[in-house]
Amino acid sequence: MIIAVASGKGGTGKTTVAVNLALALNQKEKPQLIDCDVEEPNAHIFLKPVFSNPETVNIPVPEINEEKCNFCGRCAEICVFNAIAVLKENILVFPELCHGCGGCVYFCSQEAITEAPRGIGILEKGIAHEIDFLHGRLNPGEAMSPPLINAVKSKIDPRKFVIIDAPPGTSCPVVSAVKGSDFCLLVTEPTPFGLNDLDLAVQMLKKLDIPVGVLINRSDIGNNCVDDYCKQEGIPVLMHIPWDRELAELYARGEAVVLHFERWRGLFEELWTRIFNVLGTEKHKTEKKEVGD
Ligand code: SF4
Ligand code: SF4
Repeated sequence: MIIAVASGKGGTGKTTVAVNLALALNQKEKPQLIDCDVEEPNAHIFLKPVFSNPETVNIPVPEINEEKCNFCGRCAEICVFNAIAVLKENILVFPELCHGCGGCVYFCSQEAITEAPRGIGILEKGIAHEIDFLHGRLNPGEAMSPPLINAVKSKIDPRKFVIIDAPPGTSCPVVSAVKGSDFCLLVTEPTPFGLNDLDLAVQMLKKLDIPVGVLINRSDIGNNCVDDYCKQEGIPVLMHIPWDRELAELYARGEAVVLHFERWRGLFEELWTRIFNVLGTEKHKTEKKEVGD
């Protein structure tokens, strides 16, 4: 079971929700929490795991043997990322643009291309509060986050209940992070900006065929636009969290609210119940459709 926690925009409280969800589950299950927000991972601040043996994550980038090359230009033609430029008697490779897809190697008829590893970030693992924690850290200035996200996700333990803290937005890194999830909880705020970005995230998840629920954070600061939108779209609103000084103070100190207040543990346990109910309904719908087909 993989549950992703995502948001159409940053700063909505997504990581707070992901961490507290994991902590609310850890008395029944020993979950895995995976921070896929590799450009700015921060779930570890709240969980404080002790990391051991960081692993470097590489992507394979092309190296050209100009003695074998006939400068046909095929490699540059097939590279949609413009990571190779073929000149009259010279080839330029731009490793920062290369996604490591291996296409140029495959299409080079002269076998003039080999691959060399290029480090894009590190993967760290640790345990905290019986939660198996993992995250990736992208190297400063590095733009290639999907391969690092995929490397972090390759460590998913299929025997565990997995919670993924996805990057904000709706671009490639988010798709890499949420792909393959059984359910996505979208965290948003009841403002016009929140609604706009929520709608983008909902459209993205529809394309990926991932069931969605919404959590409205700071639910008393805006208007009813998100509730109305969810009603219209048939998306369940699973929790409202009003602005709360207790929560804000603990967040500022890098503390998880579930570890300090039984009331909050109870609220996040209720959220799990609602998520399981939605998952049960979705499963029922799929089974019914299959029987109908
Ligand atoms: S495809 Fe191979 S032979 Fe052709 S330009 Fe590229 S490296 Fe050279
Ligand atoms: S490996 Fe893929 S992305 Fe990198 S240069 Fe070759 S074709 Fe382009």
